[in-house]
Amino acid sequence: APRRIHEAMTPWSASHPQQIALCDEFHRISYGDLPQAVETVAERMAASGVRAGDRVLLIAENCVALALAILAASRLDAWSATVNARLSAREIDNFLAHSGARRAIYFGAASPAAAAHGQARGAIREDWPVIGDVLLGPSNPDAVPEPVFDGAAEQVAVLVYTSGTTGAPKAVMLTHANLLFIANNNRNLRRLAPGDTVYGVLPLSHVYGLSALLAASLISGAALRLVPRFSESALAQALASGEVSVMHGAPAMYAKLLAYCEANGIEPSAPRLRVAQSGGAPLTAALKADFEAAFGTPLHNGYGMTEASPSICQTRMEAPRADCSVGTPIPGIEVRLHGAEGSAEGVGEIRVRGPNVMKGYYRAADASAEAVTADGWLCTGDLARIDADGAFHVVGRSKELIIRSGFNVYPVEVEGVLNAHPGIVQSAVVGRTVEGNEEVVAFIEVARDAPPAEAELRAYLREHLSPYKLPSEIVVLEQLPAAATGKILKKELQRMAARGD
Ligand code: ATP
Ligand code: MG
Repeated sequence: APRRIHEAMTPWSASHPQQIALCDEFHRISYGDLPQAVETVAERMAASGVRAGDRVLLIAENCVALALAILAASRLDAWSATVNARLSAREIDNFLAHSGARRAIYFGAASPAAAAHGQARGAIREDWPVIGDVLLGPSNPDAVPEPVFDGAAEQVAVLVYTSGTTGAPKAVMLTHANLLFIANNNRNLRRLAPGDTVYGVLPLSHVYGLSALLAASLISGAALRLVPRFSESALAQALASGEVSVMHGAPAMYAKLLAYCEANGIEPSAPRLRVAQSGGAPLTAALKADFEAAFGTPLHNGYGMTEASPSICQTRMEAPRADCSVGTPIPGIEVRLHGAEGSAEGVGEIRVRGPNVMKGYYRAADASAEAVTADGWLCTGDLARIDADGAFHVVGRSKELIIRSGFNVYPVEVEGVLNAHPGIVQSAVVGRTVEGNEEVVAFIEVARDAPPAEAELRAYLREHLSPYKLPSEIVVLEQLPAAATGKILKKELQRMAARGD
């Protein structure tokens, strides 16, 4: 069994050397060539001063070079901290300072902003074998290596920053065992195998991309096509070409794909698509139904969080769901609903224990102790109920619960109704405190060709929601603020709602 993530692909290198492992617009690397490619990049990384226990900040958009660098860091027993190249210079500076990284390395596909950041910090250009141009940030003489462990369950593989939906991103330490466990789970649940081509648009700087795309593909012998940034037209084309058999995305990506096909009169087609999965944010019934009607393939749902590497619940291939439940816990972990007994609606906080739970937050012992109990339960802060089939329904984050005149309003429910309106592409609902009470504020992105009239939309909402759940205000935005993962940044919307703009 592999002990480190870069060893995941070893069996395929022997049995399927011709099979493509990683590709992007410029590179194609077969399983046969992958071990040597990782070795070569690891040598260059070591020559730049990165040693076992060091953190190395990898700044890039999805590309083969980034995937190789993550595997090379694993080979050196260094921790890779992957950072999306589209973040601001201030955010990158924060990660650099917080991680105490030996070096920041910017890869070819770094955005102009990231490249400018590197140059401003004295990065030098180098030409590395296999991957080409890299920008090498200055070596940090104060970097202190962390202890190195032989055991996969102790040794950290990656430092992953959370999405920052609710506040400042937290640095999650995931071990090799964490990633390998989820990769194996994914392989089994989605029956991944050589011959599959996985569409890799979720950033490898996010845990969903690291686990479900990179680690899961390599452990399965599948091909991973890395795509630097999301484009609905490129996705529609890749699906139609018959290349892609597995697609993972945030709900927003599927919503944009459908809106694009609709607006441009493109017949949705995906002849080889075998697995389509949504995760990372709430999936609404309307989106799921629309996708399934358009592409004729079930849209699976998965729930998780960075701290759980990330999978907690998944719907099953053999039992596709008609509703937007997140399915049942993945095999090998324990999940319970804390406090559900005391709730009339049977709603409790999801708590998780098992090999997917993080080692902790880096350099934040207090926050770690708060997130994971002494006996190993991760407190997710997400609320859910369990239906008669044992399937979980995530109703929202406890932090986002809106309490209106003593009644609970779950933003997810209101978003579900909004998204079901044909004139709405996507929505996000947040609370606003007004004189000690909370109001519901809805932000919507409308269909270009058929935007709803406000009076008609209000009448529609009155028909589908109890009065206390109705938005006090509906704000139309050209685009909802989102992270590179497609996740909507609710803290920004909360700020906007509070300001009233
Ligand atoms: P931060 O912790 O920095 O505020 P974040 O929690 O959004 O950001 P992630 O770890 O990327 O960072 O996201 C995990 C969260 O996303 C979960 O806690 C949950 O609230 C939400 N989530 C993930 N998948 C689903 C899903 N299928 N349905 C509903 N919510 C989901
Ligand atoms: Mg979180």
